[in-house]
Amino acid sequence: MIKNINQKTHPVFANTVVPQQFAKSPNQVRQFNRSYDSVRIASLGGFGDVTQNMFVYEYIPNGDFSKSQIIIVDCGVGFPEEDAFGVDLQIPDTRYLEDKKDRILGIFITHGHEDHIGAVRFILPILGLNIPVYAPSLAAAFIEARLAESNTRANITVYDGSKPFVKGPFVVDPIRVTHSIPDTFHFAIGTPMGTFYHGSDFKFDVFPLDGKASDLSHIARIGEKGVVALMSDSLGSDHEGYSPSESSIAENFKHEIVSSKGRVFVTSISSNIIRWSQAIEYAKSVGRKIVIVGLSVDRAINVAKSLKYITLKDTDIITPERVGNFPDSQLLFLVAGFAGQPDSALARMVMGKHKIKIKSGDKVIFSSPDYIPGTTSNINNMIDNLSKMGAEVAYGEKEELHVSGHGYQKEHAILIDLVRPKFLLPIGGNYRHIKSYQKMAKVMGFNDDQLITPDYDSTVTFNGNGTVDTNFHIPLRKVLIDGLGIGDVGATVLRDRKLLAEDGMFSVVLMVDTATGTLAKDPVILSRGFVFMKENTDLMNYLKVEISKKFKETTSKPANIDYIREQIQGYIEQIILDKTGRQPMVLPLVIEV
Ligand SMILES: [Zn+2]
Repeated sequence: MIKNINQKTHPVFANTVVPQQFAKSPNQVRQFNRSYDSVRIASLGGFGDVTQNMFVYEYIPNGDFSKSQIIIVDCGVGFPEEDAFGVDLQIPDTRYLEDKKDRILGIFITHGHEDHIGAVRFILPILGLNIPVYAPSLAAAFIEARLAESNTRANITVYDGSKPFVKGPFVVDPIRVTHSIPDTFHFAIGTPMGTFYHGSDFKFDVFPLDGKASDLSHIARIGEKGVVALMSDSLGSDHEGYSPSESSIAENFKHEIVSSKGRVFVTSISSNIIRWSQAIEYAKSVGRKIVIVGLSVDRAINVAKSLKYITLKDTDIITPERVGNFPDSQLLFLVAGFAGQPDSALARMVMGKHKIKIKSGDKVIFSSPDYIPGTTSNINNMIDNLSKMGAEVAYGEKEELHVSGHGYQKEHAILIDLVRPKFLLPIGGNYRHIKSYQKMAKVMGFNDDQLITPDYDSTVTFNGNGTVDTNFHIPLRKVLIDGLGIGDVGATVLRDRKLLAEDGMFSVVLMVDTATGTLAKDPVILSRGFVFMKENTDLMNYLKVEISKKFKETTSKPANIDYIREQIQGYIEQIILDKTGRQPMVLPLVIEV
């Protein structure tokens, strides 16, 4: 194990420590002595969140925030938790940038995964379509394809890592690394305060399928010049050793395809062009035709074809409509919806709502490089249902069809040793990954003062007097998108959807003669998804009697409708909870007659 590495760094940070009083007082905003520069790093998707990556690097000259200049790294979507009913996506909260839009010098994209690029189409129109975007070719093509669908054009520059970009006080130097998608980069971000190394998702795959290895000598050159802080992917840091190479699963994946007699379906995240490319190659080798099912896979494959990552002739492809003209043994389907999104092709096949029906003898291969939070139970349900329908399902590490796209401990140790930063700031992992990353760093000779652990909504500010503080917090809210628009699904709507899904709805209609304050008719009860009414006549009759009683207690002459509605609602909720232990959504409808 590597120990006590000799850390060369910017002179300002040479022998400095994080003052403990700053690190431990999260709610106190420190007053700036306005005589030195600072660099502030903020995560608009929240620190400790694996997805919705969006990092702000802000250079503040002489402590004057009104003159700060900003670059952004990545702009990705998040995947809401499983109980966010009907919500498709979550995006970073950009309110911090609201009054700084004209000082954003560029958005730099590390790679083409949705949790790094998927929010560009939502956020660029908010921040300004004129803001230049810098992206590697594959990510750029994915972003452009999505923007074109909404007739939006952006100012995108494609980079290949051959030269750095100078943007105001920043020099952004892209460094090629490997990951589960080709064309992935890290950034050395030079500032007047020293260099910050942004080490987003990576692994050091020495046998990458596209033949383009990580540029370790470039990283070493950056490290030798001195680095203030390493912001590092930490997702794989609770695994020992090296993350297996992409090429290590190729044989198993090939075997699953070429050994099959019936139809073969392959599903993965749509941007996984390495897997699509392999599937196509193996299918062609045994004379199978390719059937693309689902818009997102179709889009990804077209992008990959145009950039020559995939070789696919028109004669290799058949449309889903022509499937009937070919024997089962000559078909391979590439299917969207690996994570079980309700409207996706795979989910509709599983529910029998798709024109392509799963049947006995089919084989379905699940192969995705990374775990997507919030999707496990969907995937398990689909695997169960596909098995029930008679399909053979191949999935998971068991059959060695997955490898992580993220480096394990030894790869992290190599990156740390090459970069030799003064401070370590783990990103791209949950807190358990951050903790195991830090544990490993300590074995390598780092001390507590060099390990930065921000809260979810902290910012990390590196000050010219050598201090680092995490005191300034930015309020982050969940910005949810459910097909209606940005941010219009609030907590109340979600709570209502959850109630309806779990305990159904109970409604009572009260016809009230306002003048006399009496009921014009007996209460009428309606319910959905709560109890089967016919079998619960006793309960319903009991509720009717109780509601009438409560009405008599609360009514007045003339009747105060709002007061009655409120009282009846609380009362019904209570007696239903007492009698059934359930909490349906209760809607009293008080109609004045
Ligand atoms: Zn990634």
